[in-house]
Amino acid sequence: MAVYLDNNATTSMSSDVLDAMMPFLTDRYQNVSSAAGEVSGLRRALSQARTRVATLLDVADSAECVFTSGATEANNWAIEGTARNGNGVGHVVTTAIEHPSVLESVRRLEQESGWSVSVVKPDYSGVITVEDILKVIRPETKLVSVMLVNNETGILQPVGAISRAVKAIAPTTTFHTDATQALGKIGVSLSGELETVDLLSLSAHKFHGPKGVGVLVVRAGTNIAPLLVGGGQESGRRSGTTNMPGVVGCGAAAIAARLWESHRGPVQAMRDRFEEILTSQFPSVLIFGRDQDRLPNTSCFALPGCDGNSIADRLALENIWVGTGSACSAGALRPPHSLLAMGIPYSTASAALRVSLSRYSSNSDIDQLINALSIIACNATTATRREVGR
Ligand code: PMP
Repeated sequence: MAVYLDNNATTSMSSDVLDAMMPFLTDRYQNVSSAAGEVSGLRRALSQARTRVATLLDVADSAECVFTSGATEANNWAIEGTARNGNGVGHVVTTAIEHPSVLESVRRLEQESGWSVSVVKPDYSGVITVEDILKVIRPETKLVSVMLVNNETGILQPVGAISRAVKAIAPTTTFHTDATQALGKIGVSLSGELETVDLLSLSAHKFHGPKGVGVLVVRAGTNIAPLLVGGGQESGRRSGTTNMPGVVGCGAAAIAARLWESHRGPVQAMRDRFEEILTSQFPSVLIFGRDQDRLPNTSCFALPGCDGNSIADRLALENIWVGTGSACSAGALRPPHSLLAMGIPYSTASAALRVSLSRYSSNSDIDQLINALSIIACNATTATRREVGR
């Protein structure tokens, strides 16, 4: 049996989700947009899934939740859709710790459409501050995109405070947050703390739903052009035949994600126990974000002198799954960019590993990881890494 400790990369689909999806993968395969979509109940199933997602996010009007193929599409759409909303070329603000689906989309605007871009770095503790965002806001700033939780470190970002501060000085600026890593792990409320957020992305496979389905929440009054045009599905905002199994699975996963509070304690206790054993066995270990507000399920750490990728590869041979956060570019591996942005030295960031738990994780998984690490870690040196781009 695999020891799966890489839940920020993806999660297992829960049996409830699979049960909810099954009819739509078999007998109920018809197109929801067909004439019979209404009488067959398909349209009701679609609207029920949308309401479930809206309820998870405290959104009163479920029509604001638009289904996409995942968070990559939702992030690309938030950025490109705002850029193409008819208000001309402008300035966009984002952060150095965003997922590549935000960073590369912003780079494309800069290179191909002449937008100016400000990429704000976190402080040494991994947090993007309100002050650093406000410093770069200009009269022509049309979009600000700051993630709610970083996928590599699990560190929470003060998005509510940042969006309120941005709106106070630039009320017409669109504010986007990538909340992909937050759902099912912490509370996310677009009627509470995140009330001033205009656009929010999420992805079902990060909270025990299926892959290939996500949502962009578009709050009423937000000016955003569609990215995908054609059949006019999703009220003309996102064309393409509706992925009914995916959408229904996303809705079912949203019901369970609302129970995040009941999983928080046990998951955090497992993570904290892991970190205690880790520090006692490897006194030189560095744990990133340990003193910060961070996800209860995530531990990002480095064993100095070791190479994160070679340790992960050797653990994989034992069927133990952990994350390295490395991006593969032209066949060469780079350490997690969020750690580099925090000012962590390249050699330390190269040693980073990420353990991310779910409600299905157990202390026995952690014990197996610790045992394997004790054998492997001392033999994995930095010699195997090809350093690039430095
Ligand atoms: N944003 C964040 C923060 C993520 O962690 C991920 C997935 N790694 C994505 C966006 C992309 O999500 P998807 O797999 O649904 O395209």
